[in-house]
Formats: sequence, structure tokens, C-alpha cells
Amino acid sequence: MILDMFSLSGKTAIVTGSDTGLGQGISKALVEAGAKVLGVSRSASTATQEMLGKENFSYITADLSSIEPVDTIINTALEKFGRLDILVNNAGIIKREDSIDFSVENWDLVMNVNLRTLFFLSQAAARQFVKQNSGGKIISVASMLSYQGGIRVPSYTASKSAVKGLTMTLANEWAKYGINVNAIAPGYMATNNTAALRADADRSEAILERIPAGRWGTPHDLMGAAVFLASSASDYVNGFTLAVDGGWLAR
Ligand code: NAD
Repeated sequence: MILDMFSLSGKTAIVTGSDTGLGQGISKALVEAGAKVLGVSRSASTATQEMLGKENFSYITADLSSIEPVDTIINTALEKFGRLDILVNNAGIIKREDSIDFSVENWDLVMNVNLRTLFFLSQAAARQFVKQNSGGKIISVASMLSYQGGIRVPSYTASKSAVKGLTMTLANEWAKYGINVNAIAPGYMATNNTAALRADADRSEAILERIPAGRWGTPHDLMGAAVFLASSASDYVNGFTLAVDGGWLAR
């Protein structure tokens, strides 16, 4: 039956950036669909665990600005679950500064978290999927700035545009192993990531005016897309970046 195709019962997942915001919402979605989730964040995902229960959601802390924790993350998931089916690359940061003054530090930090670690964690997950001979699902969180330029966020736009391209490359190479690599491009969502933007009355009003849905998105708004792309309902969807944006890109 069609709804069975969306079930994640018996599946195991890693979600990065699970302590708050969109990663918390994605973790909730996967658990509600039946998966066991290992969360990975800079700070402890205690609130997420309280929400979802210890038996469904466990977590580790790791600094994803370097690729050093990649093996530990995969090995922890294997120790806990014995196998891996889903990786969600959600952790990400943004630095705002005029491009003319933009620092090397803000370039490297954003590119490392949003792109470099995302790639090497995806590679490690794909190697595990191949070893299991099971196929798997990789979902990365892209952005409206995978399609548009943005303002004062050069490293963020570069990283998120690259996530969209990389999603296509990896799908091309790994579809033969039964691995689906897709991305979700959230619109403007009310999380820490956009706190500064929402606090700026002019920018906030201009953004809100442009969203056809007439409101900022919430972590809840991503839950359906996350379960779809993590489940067998999307087995023939590969290399695609799905916008969940209240119609922003249609404008
Ligand atoms: P957020 O700031 O609340 O969450 C960011 C997450 O990334 C946190 O869980 C944090 O622990 C994790 N993280 C950041 N740096 C890390 C590091 N060095 N090591 C480990 N974990 C680290 O914001 P959010 O909106 O929930 O962001 C989640 C993702 O969604 C990001 O990739 C962001 O770029 C993307 N996104 C957000 C929006 C939006 O409007 N909020 C829009 C498009 C894309």
C-alpha cells in the first residue's frame, strides 16, 4: 500500500545538526516514520532526545568544522544500530559580512561545515551502504541560495550552490549502488540561522512580503519532504534538490 512506502520502520539514520531548528524537526520526522536516529551536533541534543525518547533518538557531540569526527560518527551509528540506511546532512552555518571585507576565517569555517565535512561524511556513509550491499539514502540541506545570490553571504551561497551540484554528482556516481542522493532547499525558516535577519525590521518585512505563503517556514514544514526522500517512496528520485519554500522560488 502506498503509505507503507513512506514507512521507515527498521531503518537507521544519522542526522547532523540535530540539537535545534530544522535538524530537530527532521529527526522528529524520521522517528515518527519509524526510524532510529543518531543525532550529531556541536552541542548536546538533549531537547531533541527529551522530545523523541532515548529508545528512538541518541546523540553524540562533534565539531563538524573538521572531518576528524567522520569515522567516529559512522562507527557510533554501527555500534548502536548494526547498520546504516539514511544520512541527513543538515548541520550548517552562515556568516554575514560585506564581500569586500569578507575574512578568510569566515570563508573557511562556512565551507568546512557546509561542504567539506558534508562531502566526506556522505562518502563514508556511501562506503557503508556499499559494504552492506543495501543501498541507502543521503539527504543534504541546501538553501534558496543554491539558486540565488543572496547579499553579504559569499561563503554561504558558494557552499549551498555547491551542495546542489554535489548532490547531482553523487547521484550520478552512486545510483548504481542503490543510493539516492537528494537535497531539500528550505525557504526562509524561523530558526537560529535567520534570527539576525528576522531582527532586522526592513529585511524581515521585505522577505515576508515576497513569500507567497505569507509566513516564515518552520521545522515542521520540512517533515514531509524529509520522510519522502528518506523512504522507498522516493526510490526513483535521484540528484534532485526539492524546494520547501512557501512558493519563494516561484516568484
Ligand atoms: P540552526 O542555526 O538552528 O542550526 C544549525 C545546526 O548546525 C545546529 O544543530 C548546530 O549544532 C549545527 N552545527 C553548526 N556548526 C556545527 C559544527 N561546527 N559542528 C557540529 N554541528 C554544527 O539553523 P537551522 O536553520 O536549523 O539550520 C539547519 C540547516 O538548514 C543549515 O544547513 C542551514 O544552512 C539550512 N538552512 C536554513 C534555512 C533557514 O531559513 N533557517 C534556510 C535554508 C537552509
